[in-house]
Amino acid sequence: MKASVTKSLFGKAPGGGRVDLFTLTNARGWFARIASYGTILTELQVPDRRGRLGNVVLGFDNLKQYLAGHPYFGCTAGRVANRTARGRFRLDGKTYKLCANSAPHHLHGGTLGFDKAVWAAEILPGPEAAVKFTHASPDGDEGYPGNLDVAVVMTLTNNGELRIDYTATTDRPTPVNLTNHSYFNLAGSGNVLGHELKVAAKFYTPADAGQIPTGRIAPVAGTPLDFSKSRPIGARFAELTALPIGYDHNFVINGGGKKLAPCATVFDPVTGRVLEVLTTEPGVQVYTGNFLDGTSRGHGGIYYTQHSGICLEAQHFPDSPNHPEFPSVILRPGQTYRQTSVHRFSTR
Ligand code: BGC
Repeated sequence: MKASVTKSLFGKAPGGGRVDLFTLTNARGWFARIASYGTILTELQVPDRRGRLGNVVLGFDNLKQYLAGHPYFGCTAGRVANRTARGRFRLDGKTYKLCANSAPHHLHGGTLGFDKAVWAAEILPGPEAAVKFTHASPDGDEGYPGNLDVAVVMTLTNNGELRIDYTATTDRPTPVNLTNHSYFNLAGSGNVLGHELKVAAKFYTPADAGQIPTGRIAPVAGTPLDFSKSRPIGARFAELTALPIGYDHNFVINGGGKKLAPCATVFDPVTGRVLEVLTTEPGVQVYTGNFLDGTSRGHGGIYYTQHSGICLEAQHFPDSPNHPEFPSVILRPGQTYRQTSVHRFSTR
């Protein structure tokens, strides 16, 4: 079978704009559904070890539920993903004020971040199922300087990868740090505590009680953050002290931030599904859906309760605009921001 992309109406955005839902089908018959609202990956159907397709991301089958509010399911988070302390940063001698949408901090680009934008979309020709989403974020958007043009190309490859290529350019210096915020559940239901996780990281960035990095880079060895060998996600929960219980930590990817490198692997022993994440980014926020509280009812009528999904958010380190010691997130006119993250699926 040949790969294909189809487009249908998903609904109307608050401003009245049309929101489309794209269905990307690869040559193996796997499919992904992506909305032009937030570039949200609403559904991703990949086979288990017996060849049966099943959805592996948390999401809804209608726009209304996304518009009603949700914890960043499947979206592109930006202009700067994760937290920026007190919604402030200094750049070239000037202080910029962002909205403190996760008081007192700024989170995932603000109240109307890229997750809530209606992106322009174009189906790309070629042997792979691919859609290019573009968004023009104006100067002053959520407090950020400069007009930023962003493109996100999402491809469901014929060899079993969901590949995301990001680019951005600006007309004034601005921080940029994009990520995809999908919550994966390789079993399609239940919680992910029995999924086995390996993270290619010897170090992490310790944070304060408000989740802002202290600036230290600390070893994971001897802590419950040591995922250097694959082990069940929930195995060391009892050693975690912060509430709500679970992981919500930024790991420093071994040799990361240069070229496409292994970042994390998740394996579900029940269905045999394996997800390997590779990225060009220096960090990954591992978040085990600690705040999911059962109020969202998703695909198949499933209620998303605590730890129903795991996010592996490949990105720069949290609060980078305020940490000159971290890899820089500053994009200047004439430069192009580039990121590639790959989600490779297989079975064992
Ligand atoms: C953050 C969590 C936050 C969640 C929002 C994650 O990227 O690390 O702290 O609660 O996004 O859904």
